[in-house]
Amino acid sequence: MPSFEFESVGTRCGLAAFAKPFPICLFLVFGENRTYIVDTHLGPETASRVRDFAQARNPGKPLVVVNTHAHWDHVWGNCAFIGETIVAHERCPALMRTWWRRSTAEYGDSRRGDIVMTPPTLVFSDRLAFLDDGVELFHTPGHTEDSISVFSRPDSVMFTGDALERPIPSVDSVSPDVFADSLARIASYGADILTAGHDGVVPAGLLAHNTAYLRFLEADLEGKNPAEYPAFLSSDHAIEKHEVNRRMVTINRMESREREKLGAAFDLQRHQVFASEVFEMEPAEIRAAFETAFGL
Ligand SMILES: [Zn+2]
Repeated sequence: MPSFEFESVGTRCGLAAFAKPFPICLFLVFGENRTYIVDTHLGPETASRVRDFAQARNPGKPLVVVNTHAHWDHVWGNCAFIGETIVAHERCPALMRTWWRRSTAEYGDSRRGDIVMTPPTLVFSDRLAFLDDGVELFHTPGHTEDSISVFSRPDSVMFTGDALERPIPSVDSVSPDVFADSLARIASYGADILTAGHDGVVPAGLLAHNTAYLRFLEADLEGKNPAEYPAFLSSDHAIEKHEVNRRMVTINRMESREREKLGAAFDLQRHQVFASEVFEMEPAEIRAAFETAFGL
């Protein structure tokens, strides 16, 4: 029994959608020359099921595995592909190492099989195209620094990883404005079908909604927020997510300042322990606490 539902998208793409432990979609492209598997779910057990399915559907074609970013729920299955080409943005390997220990400690109950850290084997900075298959990968930072999107040109299908999310995106980077610019880059491709890592096929209007939210978040962090929440923050779930975003961006900005000040003496573990201690505070208090603790 497969633990995922396969949904055909466009003429040659598809989504392998897992419902448990929470919705995650892997993106598949059945190219003329290669089979592309984008993201690897939560471990080798589920990842190898997707691999078997994809290989049966496009037999004899070499695999290219892609990570849209280094978050745990997109890379834990990489170890099912040892020896294959795994492509990601050039910042991905370092972020994977930075986040690995904490995420396995925190979310380890969700793993599917024995996970082994397996970094990408082929990285790029701005754009990488497999021209003979019409597959393009390009940098869309914002959800994380290393986030990329994947475009299947012949059938005009875009997979955005976690760059698009309902009702609002999660921001685990330093700049909502950079994130909004990435959404503009995605829009510039004019894809007929947009898909996302946790929501599957999404309406085109989500690009504009998420962009409006990111501008709101940036203004909020600068203390210029309007008194009332806009329409996209109407649910408790969205407001909760927004509160997490405000704190995440603030902490990521403090991490940048720490790294700048401390250089080689930067202590990741000390930073992470301190960050979790102050996480519930308001952003201004978080800033002050870091400034005092690290002499920033
Ligand atoms: Zn993510």
